Amino acid sequence: MSQKLNSFEIAQQQLRMAVDKLELDASVYEVLKNPKRSMTVVIPVRMDDGSTRVFTGYRVQHNDALGPAKGGVRFHQDVNLDEVKALATWMTFKCAVVGIPYGGGKGGVIVDPEELSRAELERLSRGYIQAIAPVIGPDKDIPAPDVNTNAQIMAWMMDEFSLIKQHNSFGVITGKPLIIGGSLGRTEATAQGVVYVTEDMTKAKNIELEKATVVIQGFGNVGSYAAKILFDKKAKIVALSDVKGGIYNPKGLNPYKVSEHVAATGSVVNYVGAKNITNGELLELECDVLIPAALENQITDQNVDNIKARIIVEGANGPTTPEADKILEQKGIPVVPDIVANAGGVTVSYFEWVQNNMGYYWSEEEVNNRLGQIMHTVFNRTYELYRSNKGINMRVAAYMLAVQRVAEGMQVRGWIGTALPKQKATRISAK
Ligand code: GLU
Repeated sequence: MSQKLNSFEIAQQQLRMAVDKLELDASVYEVLKNPKRSMTVVIPVRMDDGSTRVFTGYRVQHNDALGPAKGGVRFHQDVNLDEVKALATWMTFKCAVVGIPYGGGKGGVIVDPEELSRAELERLSRGYIQAIAPVIGPDKDIPAPDVNTNAQIMAWMMDEFSLIKQHNSFGVITGKPLIIGGSLGRTEATAQGVVYVTEDMTKAKNIELEKATVVIQGFGNVGSYAAKILFDKKAKIVALSDVKGGIYNPKGLNPYKVSEHVAATGSVVNYVGAKNITNGELLELECDVLIPAALENQITDQNVDNIKARIIVEGANGPTTPEADKILEQKGIPVVPDIVANAGGVTVSYFEWVQNNMGYYWSEEEVNNRLGQIMHTVFNRTYELYRSNKGINMRVAAYMLAVQRVAEGMQVRGWIGTALPKQKATRISAK
C-alpha cells in the first residue's frame, strides 16, 4: 500500500512509462519531466469591507513545442504548485494526443470562491491576469475555465488583458461568453466529448448504452452535462454527487430535476426519491459506466479492490492513481484515460481560438460534428494501439501517441538530438 498521491510525481511516472515503451532517448524524459516555466504570483485583492486579502496564484507552462501553452485556471482552496504542474503536464499530452496545435499549461489560485462576493471574485480574476500578463497571449499561453471558474470569469480575464494591451484580444482566453467571442458548444464540450468516448468504449465492451447504468462523481461543468446528455440517450443515471455528498437511486435519476434541486438548495444531497450516500460509497457502486468528474486521486489502492464498474471514463484530470491503474487492468476494467476522455473541452477551446483568429463564427452543428470526428478518431487510435500491444493499458497507449508527437516536434525544432527510433515513429503515426 502506498500513500504516494503527489499528482506531479504521478504525471512524471506516466511520462516515464511512455518514453520507455517507445524506447526514446533519455533526453525526451529529461526535457519533459519538469515544466518549462512555473510562475508563482501574489494577488492583493481589496475586499468589500475595505480590507485587503492577499491570494497566491500559479501559471505553469509545461511545454510549447507544438504550439502555445493551453490550459485552464482552477480556483480552489487546495490548489498547490505541484498540482498545477501535474495539470499542465497532462495538458501537453492531452493536446498532443488529440493533435491540436498547442502545448500544455495550467493555472490556479488558492481560494474558495464561495467565500467571495461577485465583486471580489471579479477583482481577484483581474488581479490574477495583471500578475500573469507578461507570460500569456494568443500565441504564447491561452488560459480557459477549469474547476470553479466559468465563462463570466473568462470574460473578466479577457477584458483585463485587453485593457492592458489597449486592444481587444479575444484569442487570449477561451471559454468566454458567446457575445464576446465564445464558441457555441464550448460549455458542454468536455461532457460531450466524454459521452462520445463512452459510446465508443461501451460498444467495444458490448454494453448497450441505452440500458447502461451510469454513476457520475461530480456535478460541475463536466458531470452535470455528461449526466444530462447520457440521460437524453436513455442511459440510466443511478448515482450523482458533488463536494457535499452523493445520491443514489437504482431505478434512475433525472439529472434535469437534480439540477433544479441544486439550484434551490446548493447541493445534490437530500434529493427527494434518492438515498444519500458518500462520495466514497458512490465510487464502489455496481454499474456499467463509472465517470469520475471531480478531482484527482479518487480511485486509489485504498478503494480499487471494491470498484465494480464495467468501464471507467475519466471526466476529471488524474482521478486514478498508477497503483489503482494496475489493479483495474488485472480486474479487466478498461479505463478511458483523462487525456483522451476529457479532451473535448480543450478541443472546442481550440475551435473558439480559431474562430477568434478568423473573426468568423461556426454553427453549433459544425462545432459538434468536428468534435465528434476528433473524439472518435482519438479513441480509435488509442484503442487500436492498446489492442495491438501486449502489456499496456489505454493510458500508456494514449501517452505513447502523445509523447511521440511532442518528441518529434522537439526534435525537428532542434531542442533535442536524435531521440526517435525511426521505424517506431512511422509505425505509430501511420495509424
Ligand atoms: N480545463 C479543461 C481541461 O482540463 C479545458 C482546458 C482548455 O480549454 O484550455 O482540459
